[in-house]
Amino acid sequence: MAKTIFEKIIDREIAADVVYEDDLCLAFRDINPQAPVHVLLVPKKPLAKLADAQEIDQSLLGHLMLIAPKVAEGQGLEDFRLVVNHGAGAGQTVFHLHLHIFGGRELSWPPG
Ligand code: AMP
Repeated sequence: MAKTIFEKIIDREIAADVVYEDDLCLAFRDINPQAPVHVLLVPKKPLAKLADAQEIDQSLLGHLMLIAPKVAEGQGLEDFRLVVNHGAGAGQTVFHLHLHIFGGRELSWPPG
């Protein structure tokens, strides 16, 4: 399978503005930000989407949920929104699981 753009970023084949990294995940600024802070948090394991995660990925998914607020805090955010677009019909364009972390402006609800 060809690498996704996020795998290339993880492997440092493509540059990105990285704001956090550990053994399991990487966070970098979205190239087309939709808010003053728009960071993508991605597992290093190449899961295409959430539904591809298995029992064995439980701690990885938990890790992402624990790290997301730390990344947000590191960006100066107290309030923020996490979004996972799941499938093309929901707006997913990169098929490597990622959490959007948005903040820095008033966020309306419901989202479009
Ligand atoms: P999604 O539409 O949920 O799959 O989100 C993919 C996101 O990746 C979009 O918000 C894009 O702007 C972002 N994106 C695509 N290529 C890059 C890149 N090279 N560096 C940073 N963000 C990117």
